[in-house]
Amino acid sequence: MIDRRLILGGTRSIEKLAGRIWRRIFPAGRRRGRARASSLDLDKIGDPLPFGRMICCRRANLFRLCSCLRFLGYSMILIVATVVALSYYAVVVVAWGPLLFSARSSSSLAIFIVIIFHLLLILMTWSYVTVVVKDPGSVPENWRPVLDEESGQASEMDTASDANAERTSGTRYCTRCRNYKPPRCHHCSVCQQCVLKMDHHCIWVVNCVGARNYKSFCLFLMYAFLETCLDTVVLVPRFIKFFQEAQSHSTSPSNLAVVFLAFVLNLAFALSLLCFLIMHTSLLLSNTTTIEVYEKRGLPRWKYDLGKRKNFEQVFGTNRALWLFPLYTSDDQQSLSSLQALEFPTRPDDDG
Ligand SMILES: [Zn+2]
Ligand SMILES: [Zn+2]
Repeated sequence: MIDRRLILGGTRSIEKLAGRIWRRIFPAGRRRGRARASSLDLDKIGDPLPFGRMICCRRANLFRLCSCLRFLGYSMILIVATVVALSYYAVVVVAWGPLLFSARSSSSLAIFIVIIFHLLLILMTWSYVTVVVKDPGSVPENWRPVLDEESGQASEMDTASDANAERTSGTRYCTRCRNYKPPRCHHCSVCQQCVLKMDHHCIWVVNCVGARNYKSFCLFLMYAFLETCLDTVVLVPRFIKFFQEAQSHSTSPSNLAVVFLAFVLNLAFALSLLCFLIMHTSLLLSNTTTIEVYEKRGLPRWKYDLGKRKNFEQVFGTNRALWLFPLYTSDDQQSLSSLQALEFPTRPDDDG
């Protein structure tokens, strides 16, 4: 009898603990939001599915998996830090650092390589940290479209009719955040909020890439590509030399392994980053986000495309001196509408 009570008590404690962990991971607001969104989505569809199949759809809500991506993201930061630390050890400590103070002619080359390596590392880390910590762009609370105010509809729309606003007036409304969506804004199911000029949710930076951190993201891609290319190129001669010395057993096998691993990882990252860099350069110059690539399919012309120079300045700012840094002038921060991201300039032929 006592044993049974003990077992029952233990089971209840475990249930309480599991409940506490569940509530910590999914706070009440979010759980209600998801449930409401799920039911609203099904309300929109109507009820075309048999009851049993509808239950299956609710259970197989794929957006719940998005919450897992947030936890995966933190391990991605660890992976980035590990690759950087490994590359630093291979390039600076093992391969080129020992040549810095040698009397041979290779010392000047070693000094040059080590300086460039550190310069790129500082710029890459600065851009990366900025993307991770900077708000990608949150919609101001109770923001309403200007279009409605002009037509006198905004004051007439009460909270009850907000959910139907998208259908009745053509404005965009987020049923999860219970707020209007400015143009080019999208809801992120991982961050659980609407993001201004959302490009995509990036698990490598555990953040969304949006209007206010897209420049830092592009700079991170560029510096990471240059850094990995530099590492790959400068490790080749040292790797060949180490391999020759390893055959005569005059070099440490662990150092040879570290140099080899760093070479392979940097080569793989350089090739992947090159693809992303080409893709985002094309998107940047056409003033398109990754999401909008699908939205603009079939359109005769893209209304936000203002020409390559202006498209570039919309993201990188108008001050050339700051183009290579994840910074904006205070003038740009106040006057650049693409950073406020609530409304965007369009092509003159699309104004009407
Ligand atoms: Zn939203
Ligand atoms: Zn996100």
